Amino acid sequence: MTSFLLRHSFLPLLPCTTESPSRKRYSSIVRSVAGPPREESIVIVGAGIGGLATAVSLKRLGIEAVVIEQGESLRTTGTSLGVFKNGWRVLDSIGVGDELRTQFAKLKGLCFRSEDGKELASMSIEGIPGQEIRPVERRVLLETLAKKLPPDTIRFSSGMKSIQQNGNGKLLLDLDDGTQLLAKIVIGADGVRSRVAKWMGFPEPRYVGQCAFRGVAIYPEGQPFGQKLSNFYGRGLRIGCIPVSATKLYWFVVYNASSPGPKIQDPIALKKVALELIRNCPADIQAIVEKTPDESILKTRLVDRWLWPVVSPSGSSGGAVVIGDAWHPMTPNLGQGACSTLEDAISLALKIGEAIGGDPQNINRALVEYSKERWSRVSYLTVRSYLVGSFLQWENPLICGIRDRIIIPKFLNLDQFLSHTNFECPLLPESSIQNPK
Ligand SMILES: Cc1cc2nc3c(=O)[nH]c(=O)nc-3n(C[C@H](O)[C@H](O)[C@H](O)COP(=O)(O)OP(=O)(O)OC[C@H]3O[C@@H](n4cnc5c(N)ncnc54)[C@H](O)[C@@H]3O)c2cc1C
Repeated sequence: MTSFLLRHSFLPLLPCTTESPSRKRYSSIVRSVAGPPREESIVIVGAGIGGLATAVSLKRLGIEAVVIEQGESLRTTGTSLGVFKNGWRVLDSIGVGDELRTQFAKLKGLCFRSEDGKELASMSIEGIPGQEIRPVERRVLLETLAKKLPPDTIRFSSGMKSIQQNGNGKLLLDLDDGTQLLAKIVIGADGVRSRVAKWMGFPEPRYVGQCAFRGVAIYPEGQPFGQKLSNFYGRGLRIGCIPVSATKLYWFVVYNASSPGPKIQDPIALKKVALELIRNCPADIQAIVEKTPDESILKTRLVDRWLWPVVSPSGSSGGAVVIGDAWHPMTPNLGQGACSTLEDAISLALKIGEAIGGDPQNINRALVEYSKERWSRVSYLTVRSYLVGSFLQWENPLICGIRDRIIIPKFLNLDQFLSHTNFECPLLPESSIQNPK
């Protein structure tokens, strides 16, 4: 720890954020003062899971960062996420795991059923050493991470409009509100439509031919699916549900669609389409969607981006670096998008922590190393997730029959199947930054 503090001793020399009593007042001040760009050491673009987890990891290493977020507040939509043991490993490392565990129960097993409700296989997770799967409400995860940051670390209503090199080895960011930031390091954690990634030369994510509906069903009398992740496999259609609490059930319906179709805004119409998709399923499955408040149902077109060796841009370039969906959007078939984003966050923070305070070239080297080291892991997860999705979304009745009668009941080994959730990282110490009041 002492060596960290010594190595970071240059930090106070860098301009810090102006603290202010409230976010609103801060926003009005920066908007009314047109002046030179505000200098920051590290700017994180996006206060999603990746941006906040990176800021918390850096803070625990004694390094300050500013997070700029286009929204007026933390995102509260997005239902829930399945967090696997690699995600928990990171959440423990940055000191929020236990706080979240008290709110979300551990799943006991996985159950696979055919579309007509017949059980194909049922497996316990409890026998798999170290495995831990819990559904976590996205809102709670974001709020828990944000609480660990000094006040005003996150600047809301501050969307990044453009980014450019300023010629002095720094990056100049233009924000939607007309202000500018000058940064040594810019971390693009701005999600699937990342402007940072676009600037670094990444192509748009690719639509994979599947869409997903998701929502949270409310069962005031108690949800009937137990502490299990239940999967229902049909032809070109898949339904999954995970208990979030005794009365809440997170669910998703994934279906094949050569084109995602028009955007539907009306929540009632959205629910109708979701119900239509599962009209042949047993009543208990249809009830999941029926018991979901209309406005909480979301439809998402599933996309990914494969990172090809040589051809794809590097994950870091001239002080800019990307993490999470900004870098490697992946299909949700393995439930690894957010988990791998958490892995990116701590891996990047550790690299920055090792390099900061020495030769400025070290920083660029650290970002390149991060990108090289993470590339194989995130590429593997992206491709595996796509392949698993293609296998599960088969439409051919013969192949679906082989899947349901032979592959799932006889060959599915959960321990092996979940081997991609193995990930190790050190526990980070408590923060050495004094939170300004
Ligand atoms: C249907 C579905 C189910 C999923 N289920 C799971 C699951 O069970 N488990 C799992 O691990 N993952 C799951 N995922 C994936 C997971 O949601 C994402 O991988 C994760 O949210 C990525 O986090 P992120 O921080 O990279 O991006 P985001 O969460 O998208 O955050 C990006 C943030 O950047 C902000 N932003 C964007 N542009 C700008 C800008 N120009 N300036 C400032 N701010 C900006 C946005 O407002 C947002 O707050 C699922 C995804 C889908 C679609």
